Amino acid sequence: VTNRTAPAVAEAERWTAHNYHPLPVVIAEAEGAWVTDVDGRRYLDCLAGYSALNFGHRHPALVAAAREQLDRVTLTSRAFLHDQFGPFCHELAQLCGKDLVLPMNTGAEAVETAIKVSRKWGYKVKGVPDGRATIVVADGNFHGRTTTIVSFSTDPEARADFGPYTPGFRVVPYGDLDAMAAAIDDTTVAVLLEPIQGEAGVLVPPAGYLTGVRALCTERGVLFVADEIQSGLGRTGDTFACDHEGVVPDMYVLGKALGGGIVPVSAVAAGSDVLGVLRPGEHGSTFGGNPLACAVARAVIALLNTGEPQARAKEVGAHLHSRLADLVGHGLTAVRGRGLWAGVDIDPALMTGRAASERLMARGVLAKDTHGSTLRLAPPLVVTVDEIDAAADAITEVLKNS
Ligand code: PLP
Repeated sequence: VTNRTAPAVAEAERWTAHNYHPLPVVIAEAEGAWVTDVDGRRYLDCLAGYSALNFGHRHPALVAAAREQLDRVTLTSRAFLHDQFGPFCHELAQLCGKDLVLPMNTGAEAVETAIKVSRKWGYKVKGVPDGRATIVVADGNFHGRTTTIVSFSTDPEARADFGPYTPGFRVVPYGDLDAMAAAIDDTTVAVLLEPIQGEAGVLVPPAGYLTGVRALCTERGVLFVADEIQSGLGRTGDTFACDHEGVVPDMYVLGKALGGGIVPVSAVAAGSDVLGVLRPGEHGSTFGGNPLACAVARAVIALLNTGEPQARAKEVGAHLHSRLADLVGHGLTAVRGRGLWAGVDIDPALMTGRAASERLMARGVLAKDTHGSTLRLAPPLVVTVDEIDAAADAITEVLKNS
């Protein structure tokens, strides 16, 4: 048996900043829901790149789209148009039911875009006095890592030592409509929310919350900006998590799975009354909307237009949740989530989330802890019922043998 893992871990540890604490697995290959490490061990991927791999590793249609585009043109910058750009914007706008799309690369950039557009909309359309715009956000939020975004994080780990902080944000308890109503005033341009909070541990808000936020925003002339970067594009069993309540936000913020796990692709989608406020020179990105990104994202949109990933997330997700529910009271204290997405609270008396993820890894299942004793499960949507059973069996064993 070779041991390529130890030196590979050591080299990474030696030469990278320690801004992550990865599990000691060094992946060399992957296909579908499975990855293989440098020593030939196989693991079921129950993280799926934090939901960037909703369609699995190296989905044939997505790889084919990327290959084809690699042989044509990969980058033009937005100084010129290219033949994938119009179709991408058109197809994504239609998937979202919106007029316009603005492509970026990472999730944080798309959130920054949403913030800038909301503020400008506030000044130019709503008539908020210059420099006074406020945006209401929820505690426990995760919207990315830029200095502005961590300014309104309530997680000390994400925020401390990175000030001075960007002003203009008001934090209210997640799921509390009265607190949100009280926080909105004439300076409020947007409410920015995750329809299900991913990093916080897959927190599902109370039923009716998103509907209430929608009504409140409409009534008070405030944009409802839904960060669907982790929750969107099939994960919950719907195209968007907001669909569950039939809620349509004013702006969708998308990322992760939009790039099919191949290239970073993010975007915001909104009505022309909102995204139409931007003028040339006010916002952009060298790589945003590049031909390779657009080609892959178009293939992603085509997959979503079949409805199949959403249907699988619903069906196989129901099985995942029924298996996990059986473990509550047997090592788990709570399970939350929707579709193929679960936040699993391990009894803290048994072990930490980190210890659980290490033990799962030893049993061939890759998952990641978030916040103490919570494990997050988000396998690719191509995962089978049998594979979910294998993962649930592994979790059962880990809890039993602690
Ligand atoms: N918004 C949400 C809801 C996320 O889950 C994430 C990433 O986990 C982001 C934004 C940031 O995306 P990125 O890491 O691509 O900047």
